[in-house]
Amino acid sequence: MNVRDSEHLIAELVNKKNYQVCDDYTDADLIIINTCSVREKPVQRLFSEIGTINKNKKSSAKIGVCGCTASHLGEEIIKRSPSVDFVLGARNVSKISEIIDIKGAVEIDITNDESNYEFSQYRNNLFTSYINISIGCDKQCTFCIVPTTRGEEISVPPDMIINEIKKSVANGVSQIYLLGQNVNNYGNKFSTNQEKIDFSDLLNKISKINGLENIRFTSPHPLHMDDKFLNEFSSNDKICKSIHMPLQSGSNSILRLMKRGYTKEWFLNRIKKLKELCPDVTITTDIIVGFPTESKKDFEETLDVVKSVGFTQIFNFIYSPREGTKAIDIADGVEKKEANERLDKLIKLQQKLQDKNYKKEIESIHDVLYDELKPNGKIAGRSDRGFLVFAEGSEESIGKILKTKIYSANLTSLDGTIL
Ligand code: SF4
Repeated sequence: MNVRDSEHLIAELVNKKNYQVCDDYTDADLIIINTCSVREKPVQRLFSEIGTINKNKKSSAKIGVCGCTASHLGEEIIKRSPSVDFVLGARNVSKISEIIDIKGAVEIDITNDESNYEFSQYRNNLFTSYINISIGCDKQCTFCIVPTTRGEEISVPPDMIINEIKKSVANGVSQIYLLGQNVNNYGNKFSTNQEKIDFSDLLNKISKINGLENIRFTSPHPLHMDDKFLNEFSSNDKICKSIHMPLQSGSNSILRLMKRGYTKEWFLNRIKKLKELCPDVTITTDIIVGFPTESKKDFEETLDVVKSVGFTQIFNFIYSPREGTKAIDIADGVEKKEANERLDKLIKLQQKLQDKNYKKEIESIHDVLYDELKPNGKIAGRSDRGFLVFAEGSEESIGKILKTKIYSANLTSLDGTIL
């Protein structure tokens, strides 16, 4: 999300204000810090970053803070760091060219509707385009700050999405990444009159675009994984067979306290159905350890789900209390030491499972979109099933989807030979 928001910020400034991107912030006339606020640590880092930037920047250069921490803290940012010239929330990206010249401006209106806004175009990656299909989130997960920083969920009209993808493909892009907090709740609400359409219909429509080869998306919500979606996912050849299913916890009582809207049984049922329809699928997940009241038994239940699913990768975090979320009022937090031990246990279990799962890929053949030339002369890319793959290659292979035979496996990547 933030990567795409940054592209939008750059595009608006390049096209409407004649700015150019530079490599070193000490040369810049305008420095924008695009922030996250999902956990406490990046927020703390923001203020030390501002201090460092302020010391080293050109004296005339302006500093702007954008993104979710901007929405969350608003003018407090300028109070704490007076060197900041403006603050622009995650839901106000389209206003960047208006705000940069107003010293002390704070624009953080989370009711601002950008779902119909035609952003100027700028892409960091020549082969993959990020495409927003919805903004905001209507869920109320009790640990999450996003509904407070990104506002209500509104879908982007399908024609705008299709046109943006067609433009990207005409510019040489072969892969798209559809973005939204709950992509598979697409079509629930538009701000203009639209035909009835859901995420599965949208995927189907997009897959008809000539020249587009790979469709990826993030993040789907386990609650909205109905059979129609799972059938479209598995039968549509253009959809890459790797999916992110954020579990958060394997204990029903914790899921209830988190207000996730599904049970462990529902999650496992969706995984079972998915694996039946698509045996090769790879599944990644998010897990929060040490949510308030999480007992040893709750945590063991999470480990059981991890063992039974066999995730390709887990993004795991210790629960981070966030001001403005409901979970902050739940007493009975898990002690730091205990939470750390649980995280450690989870990481060790996952490493063992991951090692086994990655080794199973040896001798298999993957379609890999190579998009990076490494300094050691190797090329890197993601396979259709989500694995990071390295191979011997050259600039000529960059931007191409190439059949690659795997000969060795590491903990988070595979090595292969292009066939
Ligand atoms: Fe946050 Fe829950 Fe919305 Fe995801 S679904 S963005 S975790 S509130």
